Amino acid sequence: MNNTNKLLVLVVEDDAPVRNLITTTLKAHDYRYITAANGEMAILEASSHNPDILLMDLGLPDTDGVEVIKKIRSWSDVPIIVVSARSEDNDKINALDNGADDYITKPFSVEELLARLRVTQRRLASKYKEGNASSVFENGDLKIDYGAGCVYIKNEELHLTPIEYKILCLLAQNVGKVLTHTFITQKIWGRSWESDLASLRVFMATLRKKIEVKSGNNQYIQTHIGVGYRMIKV
Ligand code: CA
Repeated sequence: MNNTNKLLVLVVEDDAPVRNLITTTLKAHDYRYITAANGEMAILEASSHNPDILLMDLGLPDTDGVEVIKKIRSWSDVPIIVVSARSEDNDKINALDNGADDYITKPFSVEELLARLRVTQRRLASKYKEGNASSVFENGDLKIDYGAGCVYIKNEELHLTPIEYKILCLLAQNVGKVLTHTFITQKIWGRSWESDLASLRVFMATLRKKIEVKSGNNQYIQTHIGVGYRMIKV
């Protein structure tokens, strides 16, 4: 976190009207910001200003946004929100697989942008609070005791299959972050075949059902159609 209480956002966007919309919004909502209009500047600004959040356009004049994300990821775990056009859907998934945390699709509303920023902020806050050594994960009524391998909802044990447990842990360890189908299937099965994708859908449906039945709440796991899943910090 930077010295002041206001978060510093690096806005990487070559399209001036979009950049202005974003910076005006940030300014009106108490964020500080710096801007970069191409990939080279983005890397320079990210390394010299250590921003708290990155808003990253993928279609840049000099480099592919995904390449910029890869570079920045080699030294920084700053949250990266991809700002992409619908035509860049595959790039968006590629960006998530290469370390981006979240995405927003153009054209977007100011409310959408602010909501994405809030999700990221909550994630940052919980990361600072819990540190990395925590062996118990808590999110609302959901609790995972990694040591015991047990999951609880409202202190009642939830009976999960080993695969469901692995998927839930993966989502929990990346709470607030969108995980792509490929990322999840790679982590769970070590590969990403069509059949794994179908299995993932089935496991995810039963996992959500179990959580929902006990908690009366289906807000924990979000589906991003055609992209993947995310656990929400409730
Ligand atoms: Ca662009």
